[in-house]
Formats: sequence, C-alpha cells, structure tokens
Amino acid sequence: MVLRVACASANPHKVAEIIDLMGGVVDLVPRPSNLADVVEDADTLEGNARLKATAVCIATGLPALADDTGLEVDALDGAPGVITARFAGEGATDAQNRQKMLVELDRKDAAQRTARFRTVALLRFADGREFIAHGVCEGSIAMKEIGERGFGYDTLFIPLDGDGRTFAQMTIDEKHELSHRGRAFRALAKLL
Ligand code: IMP
Repeated sequence: MVLRVACASANPHKVAEIIDLMGGVVDLVPRPSNLADVVEDADTLEGNARLKATAVCIATGLPALADDTGLEVDALDGAPGVITARFAGEGATDAQNRQKMLVELDRKDAAQRTARFRTVALLRFADGREFIAHGVCEGSIAMKEIGERGFGYDTLFIPLDGDGRTFAQMTIDEKHELSHRGRAFRALAKLL
C-alpha cells in the first residue's frame, strides 16, 4: 500500500517539484491551507525541515514531508546558507534576494562565483520516527539573471554538471536530474 503523506511546503513551485519527485513513492496530500506559516528559526537546514514537518504532522495526523534548502556561496564564506530565503532581509522577495546576490558578487569574476545548493529532505511520523536525506548540487552564480523558468535563485544558478545553462533555462526534468532537491528526494525514496 502507498503511504499517505502530507506535504509541508506551501510554495507551489516546490510542491510541483516534490510531487514530480515523490508522487510515485508516496500519496501526497496538500498542506492544510489554514495552517499558519512555521517560523523557520532553527540554525540548521535539518532543524528547519524538522520544524516544518512537525507542525504539519501535528496538524494532519499524517506523516509529513518537508525540505529545506540553502545556497552556499564560497566568496561569501558560505552565506546565505540557512538564511537563503531572507538574504535581502525579513520578508524579502525572490527578486530582492537575487538582486542582493548580484550586488554582493559585483566584483567577482566567473572563477570566484562558485556555490552550491544543499537540501535536507525529511519525512517525520507522528511517533517521532524520521527518515532524512541530503542532496548537494555544485555550481556557480551567473553574472546576470538568465532564463524564464523555475523560482528562487534559478535564474542565477549554473549547475557544474550541466552544459552552462542556468536552472531557469532547463526543463523541469533536466533540473531534477541535477538539482539538490532531485538528489535529496531520490535518496529519501531509496530509504523508504
Ligand atoms: P526553502 O527551502 O523553501 O526555505 O528555500 C530557501 C531559499 O532557497 C528560498 O529563497 C528559495 O527560493 C531558495 N530555493 C530553494 N530551492 C531552490 C531551487 O530549487 N532553485 C532556486 N532557489 C531555490
């Protein structure tokens, strides 16, 4: 029997990716729409994934699937990392975060723009049992935004194992093949 699991993310782009990646492995139920946003104030990706999964697990009585992602830029000593969603400040939009990234790296040439996306995927059960998997995608930050697809920093991120295009220039299947989230959820699926 396929396990029924509540999705802890409300971000429609991320939900679409998670359904794509895990839809064949678990029966995904949407996050309750009346559930308040979880304050992601843990100091690790795993801690934030756990906060999100625990809240949805309690609210639904179902096992809950959460992920948390950070972008680590070498020239910024690994920042923004756990504060990637708030890089340009509390409540910042994706566009503001991308703009700040371009400004911070203004004087860096291509060789100085190495970075990686890191994702923790976490499935938590009501009794506290957890399955946890990690996914990393090495790459670099583009000199300017390129591409139309995706979300977040996709227009700025060029995966190392790709052909020089940003995630935002790729189809969703091409992105899954290389991405941090694709790697993390494929690893999680293997654990189940
Ligand atoms: P969270 O894991 O949803 O909290 O995401 C943290 C931050 O990383 C947010 O700013 C997202 O927009 C960004 N982010 C997460 N996943 C991706 C991705 O696959 N591509 C680009 N940006 C992402």
